[in-house]
Amino acid sequence: MTLRELARAADAFAPTPPMPVLFLGHGSPMNAIEDNPFTQGWQSVGRDLPRPSAIVCISAHWETRGTYVTGMEKPRTIHDFGGFPQALFDVQYPAPGSPELAQMTQETMTASHVGIDHAWGLDHGAWSVIIHLFPKADIPVVQLSLDRGLSPAQHYALGRELAFLRKKGILIIGSGNMVHNLGMIDWHNPDGGYDWAQEASSRMDRSILDGDHNNLVNYTSNGRAFQLAIPTPEHYLPLLYTLALKEATDPISLFNDKLMMGSLSMTSVRIG
Ligand code: ZN
Repeated sequence: MTLRELARAADAFAPTPPMPVLFLGHGSPMNAIEDNPFTQGWQSVGRDLPRPSAIVCISAHWETRGTYVTGMEKPRTIHDFGGFPQALFDVQYPAPGSPELAQMTQETMTASHVGIDHAWGLDHGAWSVIIHLFPKADIPVVQLSLDRGLSPAQHYALGRELAFLRKKGILIIGSGNMVHNLGMIDWHNPDGGYDWAQEASSRMDRSILDGDHNNLVNYTSNGRAFQLAIPTPEHYLPLLYTLALKEATDPISLFNDKLMMGSLSMTSVRIG
Protein backbone atom coordinates (compact mmCIF):
# COMPACT_ATOMS: atom_id res chain seq x y z
CA MET A 1 0.00 0.00 0.00
CA THR A 2 1.40 3.39 -0.93
CA LEU A 3 1.44 6.33 1.46
CA ARG A 4 -1.19 8.01 -0.65
CA GLU A 5 -3.49 5.00 -0.48
CA LEU A 6 -2.93 4.76 3.25
CA ALA A 7 -3.86 8.43 3.69
CA ARG A 8 -7.00 7.89 1.65
CA ALA A 9 -7.94 4.88 3.78
CA ALA A 10 -7.42 6.90 6.96
CA ASP A 11 -9.61 9.69 5.58
CA ALA A 12 -12.49 7.28 5.11
CA PHE A 13 -12.80 7.07 8.89
CA ALA A 14 -12.96 10.48 10.52
CA PRO A 15 -11.94 10.91 14.19
CA THR A 16 -14.70 10.33 16.78
CA PRO A 17 -14.95 9.97 20.55
CA PRO A 18 -13.95 6.39 21.48
CA MET A 19 -16.59 3.90 20.40
CA PRO A 20 -17.81 1.29 22.89
CA VAL A 21 -16.46 -2.26 22.55
CA LEU A 22 -18.59 -5.38 22.90
CA PHE A 23 -18.17 -9.03 23.72
CA LEU A 24 -21.30 -10.93 22.74
CA GLY A 25 -22.08 -14.44 23.93
CA HIS A 26 -23.69 -15.76 20.73
CA GLY A 27 -24.97 -19.24 21.73
CA SER A 28 -27.03 -21.16 19.20
CA PRO A 29 -27.15 -20.00 15.56
CA MET A 30 -30.95 -20.10 15.98
CA ASN A 31 -30.66 -16.83 17.91
CA ALA A 32 -30.30 -15.21 14.47
CA ILE A 33 -34.00 -15.79 13.79
CA GLU A 34 -35.45 -16.07 17.29
CA ASP A 35 -36.96 -13.45 19.53
CA ASN A 36 -35.82 -14.16 23.10
CA PRO A 37 -34.30 -12.30 26.06
CA PHE A 38 -30.78 -12.63 24.58
CA THR A 39 -31.67 -11.25 21.16
CA GLN A 40 -33.61 -8.50 22.92
CA GLY A 41 -30.47 -7.72 24.93
CA TRP A 42 -28.44 -7.35 21.71
CA GLN A 43 -31.16 -5.22 20.12
CA SER A 44 -31.24 -2.95 23.15
CA VAL A 45 -27.47 -2.40 22.99
CA GLY A 46 -27.70 -1.81 19.25
CA ARG A 47 -30.27 0.96 19.77
CA ASP A 48 -28.13 2.58 22.46
CA LEU A 49 -24.81 2.66 20.56
CA PRO A 50 -23.58 5.59 18.53
CA ARG A 51 -23.86 4.64 14.86
CA PRO A 52 -20.50 3.09 13.90
CA SER A 53 -18.69 3.88 10.66
CA ALA A 54 -17.83 0.16 10.38
CA ILE A 55 -17.53 -3.00 12.47
CA VAL A 56 -14.56 -5.28 13.14
CA CYS A 57 -15.70 -8.65 14.46
CA ILE A 58 -13.46 -11.27 16.06
CA SER A 59 -15.53 -14.44 15.82
CA ALA A 60 -14.95 -17.79 17.52
CA HIS A 61 -15.76 -19.42 14.21
CA TRP A 62 -12.81 -18.22 12.16
CA GLU A 63 -9.54 -19.85 13.21
CA THR A 64 -6.50 -19.68 10.96
CA ARG A 65 -2.73 -20.10 10.92
CA GLY A 66 -1.59 -16.49 11.09
CA THR A 67 -3.99 -13.57 11.56
CA TYR A 68 -6.21 -12.47 8.68
CA VAL A 69 -8.68 -9.69 8.07
CA THR A 70 -11.42 -9.99 5.44
CA GLY A 71 -10.74 -7.67 2.53
CA MET A 72 -13.61 -8.27 0.11
CA GLU A 73 -16.15 -5.64 -0.97
CA LYS A 74 -19.12 -7.97 -0.51
CA PRO A 75 -18.59 -10.65 2.14
CA ARG A 76 -20.81 -13.71 1.69
CA THR A 77 -23.06 -14.93 4.49
CA ILE A 78 -21.53 -18.24 5.61
CA HIS A 79 -23.91 -20.85 7.01
CA ASP A 80 -21.23 -22.71 8.95
CA PHE A 81 -23.45 -25.18 10.79
CA GLY A 82 -25.61 -28.22 10.13
CA GLY A 83 -28.89 -29.70 11.32
CA PHE A 84 -30.86 -26.47 11.59
CA PRO A 85 -34.14 -25.48 9.89
CA GLN A 86 -34.10 -24.21 6.32
CA ALA A 87 -35.27 -20.80 7.58
CA LEU A 88 -31.84 -20.30 9.15
CA PHE A 89 -30.03 -21.26 5.94
CA ASP A 90 -32.23 -18.78 4.08
CA VAL A 91 -30.92 -15.85 6.14
CA GLN A 92 -28.61 -13.49 4.31
CA TYR A 93 -26.78 -10.61 5.96
CA PRO A 94 -25.61 -8.56 2.99
CA ALA A 95 -23.55 -5.93 4.84
CA PRO A 96 -20.75 -4.52 2.70
CA GLY A 97 -17.11 -5.18 3.52
CA SER A 98 -14.47 -2.49 3.74
CA PRO A 99 -11.20 -3.11 1.89
CA GLU A 100 -10.01 0.28 3.24
CA LEU A 101 -10.56 -0.78 6.83
CA ALA A 102 -8.90 -4.14 6.16
CA GLN A 103 -5.80 -2.40 4.81
CA MET A 104 -5.75 0.12 7.64
CA THR A 105 -5.96 -2.74 10.16
CA GLN A 106 -3.18 -4.64 8.42
CA GLU A 107 -0.91 -1.59 8.37
CA THR A 108 -1.41 -0.75 12.01
CA MET A 109 -1.18 -4.15 13.68
CA THR A 110 2.49 -4.90 14.09
CA ALA A 111 2.66 -7.52 16.88
CA SER A 112 1.73 -10.11 14.26
CA HIS A 113 1.68 -10.05 10.47
CA VAL A 114 -1.91 -9.61 9.36
CA GLY A 115 -2.87 -11.02 5.97
CA ILE A 116 -5.75 -9.82 3.82
CA ASP A 117 -8.26 -12.59 3.16
CA HIS A 118 -10.49 -12.81 0.08
CA ALA A 119 -12.16 -16.17 0.69
CA TRP A 120 -13.99 -16.00 4.02
CA GLY A 121 -16.95 -13.68 4.55
CA LEU A 122 -19.27 -13.40 7.55
CA ASP A 123 -19.62 -16.55 9.63
CA HIS A 124 -22.51 -17.09 12.01
CA GLY A 125 -20.45 -15.89 14.98
CA ALA A 126 -20.60 -12.49 13.29
CA TRP A 127 -23.91 -12.28 11.42
CA SER A 128 -26.16 -14.11 13.90
CA VAL A 129 -25.55 -11.34 16.45
CA ILE A 130 -24.85 -8.30 14.24
CA ILE A 131 -28.19 -8.89 12.51
CA HIS A 132 -29.86 -7.94 15.80
CA LEU A 133 -27.68 -4.88 16.39
CA PHE A 134 -27.97 -3.53 12.87
CA PRO A 135 -30.80 -5.31 11.03
CA LYS A 136 -30.52 -3.09 7.95
CA ALA A 137 -27.07 -4.54 7.12
CA ASP A 138 -25.96 -1.07 6.04
CA ILE A 139 -22.77 -0.82 8.12
CA PRO A 140 -19.58 -2.34 6.66
CA VAL A 141 -18.29 -5.41 8.53
CA VAL A 142 -14.85 -6.99 8.41
CA GLN A 143 -13.77 -10.04 10.38
CA LEU A 144 -10.43 -10.60 12.08
CA SER A 145 -9.40 -14.24 12.46
CA LEU A 146 -8.05 -16.06 15.49
CA ASP A 147 -4.49 -17.30 14.94
CA ARG A 148 -4.31 -20.86 16.31
CA GLY A 149 -0.58 -20.43 16.88
CA LEU A 150 -0.83 -17.62 19.44
CA SER A 151 -0.94 -17.86 23.24
CA PRO A 152 -3.78 -16.15 25.17
CA ALA A 153 -1.33 -13.38 26.17
CA GLN A 154 -0.42 -12.86 22.52
CA HIS A 155 -4.10 -12.63 21.56
CA TYR A 156 -4.59 -10.04 24.31
CA ALA A 157 -1.59 -8.05 23.05
CA LEU A 158 -2.93 -8.17 19.51
CA GLY A 159 -6.29 -6.92 20.75
CA ARG A 160 -4.65 -3.84 22.24
CA GLU A 161 -3.41 -2.88 18.81
CA LEU A 162 -6.97 -2.37 17.65
CA ALA A 163 -7.41 0.54 20.07
CA PHE A 164 -6.90 3.18 17.39
CA LEU A 165 -10.01 1.95 15.57
CA ARG A 166 -12.24 3.02 18.45
CA LYS A 167 -11.38 6.63 17.73
CA LYS A 168 -12.42 6.27 14.12
CA GLY A 169 -16.02 5.38 14.87
CA ILE A 170 -15.40 1.67 14.46
CA LEU A 171 -17.26 -0.79 16.64
CA ILE A 172 -15.17 -3.78 17.72
CA ILE A 173 -17.13 -6.91 18.62
CA GLY A 174 -15.73 -10.11 20.07
CA SER A 175 -18.21 -12.94 19.51
CA GLY A 176 -17.94 -16.23 21.38
CA ASN A 177 -19.10 -17.73 24.69
CA MET A 178 -17.14 -17.52 27.93
CA VAL A 179 -18.46 -20.86 29.22
CA HIS A 180 -18.74 -23.17 26.22
CA ASN A 181 -18.60 -26.94 26.64
CA LEU A 182 -20.78 -28.48 23.92
CA GLY A 183 -19.76 -32.00 24.93
CA MET A 184 -21.54 -31.53 28.27
CA ILE A 185 -24.71 -29.80 27.05
CA ASP A 186 -27.66 -30.74 29.27
CA TRP A 187 -30.83 -30.59 27.17
CA HIS A 188 -32.94 -31.05 30.31
CA ASN A 189 -31.65 -27.84 31.86
CA PRO A 190 -32.46 -25.09 29.34
CA ASP A 191 -32.24 -22.22 31.84
CA GLY A 192 -29.42 -23.17 34.17
CA GLY A 193 -25.86 -24.36 34.55
CA TYR A 194 -23.82 -27.03 36.28
CA ASP A 195 -22.13 -26.03 39.54
CA TRP A 196 -18.77 -25.73 37.78
CA ALA A 197 -20.31 -23.55 35.07
CA GLN A 198 -21.79 -21.26 37.70
CA GLU A 199 -18.48 -21.08 39.50
CA ALA A 200 -16.51 -20.31 36.33
CA SER A 201 -19.07 -17.79 35.13
CA SER A 202 -19.22 -15.87 38.41
CA ARG A 203 -15.42 -15.83 38.74
CA MET A 204 -15.12 -14.57 35.17
CA ASP A 205 -17.72 -11.88 35.84
CA ARG A 206 -15.85 -10.74 38.94
CA SER A 207 -12.52 -10.56 37.14
CA ILE A 208 -14.08 -8.63 34.25
CA LEU A 209 -15.72 -6.07 36.55
CA ASP A 210 -12.60 -5.81 38.74
CA GLY A 211 -10.34 -5.32 35.71
CA ASP A 212 -8.29 -8.38 36.66
CA HIS A 213 -7.30 -9.19 33.10
CA ASN A 214 -4.24 -11.20 34.16
CA ASN A 215 -6.51 -13.73 35.79
CA LEU A 216 -8.56 -14.04 32.60
CA VAL A 217 -5.54 -14.22 30.28
CA ASN A 218 -4.01 -16.96 32.45
CA TYR A 219 -7.23 -18.95 32.47
CA THR A 220 -5.49 -22.31 31.98
CA SER A 221 -4.14 -22.15 35.54
CA ASN A 222 -7.48 -21.26 37.14
CA GLY A 223 -8.51 -24.76 38.17
CA ARG A 224 -11.12 -27.34 37.27
CA ALA A 225 -14.13 -25.04 36.75
CA PHE A 226 -12.24 -23.02 34.13
CA GLN A 227 -10.91 -26.18 32.47
CA LEU A 228 -14.45 -27.49 32.06
CA ALA A 229 -15.76 -24.08 30.95
CA ILE A 230 -13.03 -23.64 28.30
CA PRO A 231 -12.23 -27.10 26.88
CA THR A 232 -11.06 -25.39 23.66
CA PRO A 233 -10.04 -21.72 23.48
CA GLU A 234 -11.82 -20.38 20.38
CA HIS A 235 -15.08 -19.25 22.04
CA TYR A 236 -13.20 -17.64 24.95
CA LEU A 237 -10.43 -15.79 23.12
CA PRO A 238 -12.67 -13.10 21.56
CA LEU A 239 -13.29 -11.93 25.15
CA LEU A 240 -9.58 -11.18 25.53
CA TYR A 241 -9.60 -8.95 22.42
CA THR A 242 -12.52 -7.03 23.90
CA LEU A 243 -10.99 -6.62 27.37
CA ALA A 244 -7.63 -5.55 25.92
CA LEU A 245 -9.38 -2.47 24.55
CA LYS A 246 -10.59 -1.18 27.90
CA GLU A 247 -9.08 2.14 28.92
CA ALA A 248 -8.96 3.13 32.60
CA THR A 249 -11.79 5.65 32.19
CA ASP A 250 -14.17 3.31 30.33
CA PRO A 251 -17.25 2.11 32.20
CA ILE A 252 -17.84 -1.64 31.92
CA SER A 253 -21.05 -3.60 32.33
CA LEU A 254 -22.44 -7.10 31.79
CA PHE A 255 -25.70 -8.07 30.13
CA ASN A 256 -27.36 -11.35 29.05
CA ASP A 257 -25.50 -12.74 32.06
CA LYS A 258 -27.16 -16.16 32.11
CA LEU A 259 -26.24 -19.81 31.88
CA MET A 260 -28.18 -22.22 29.73
CA MET A 261 -28.19 -25.93 28.93
CA GLY A 262 -25.79 -26.67 31.75
CA SER A 263 -22.54 -25.75 30.08
CA LEU A 264 -23.07 -22.54 28.09
CA SER A 265 -23.03 -18.90 29.23
CA MET A 266 -24.55 -16.08 27.21
CA THR A 267 -22.78 -13.40 29.27
CA SER A 268 -21.99 -10.32 27.21
CA VAL A 269 -19.83 -7.31 28.00
CA ARG A 270 -20.07 -3.65 27.08
CA ILE A 271 -17.03 -1.39 27.50
CA GLY A 272 -17.43 2.35 27.07
ZN1 ZN B 1 -20.24 -20.47 18.42
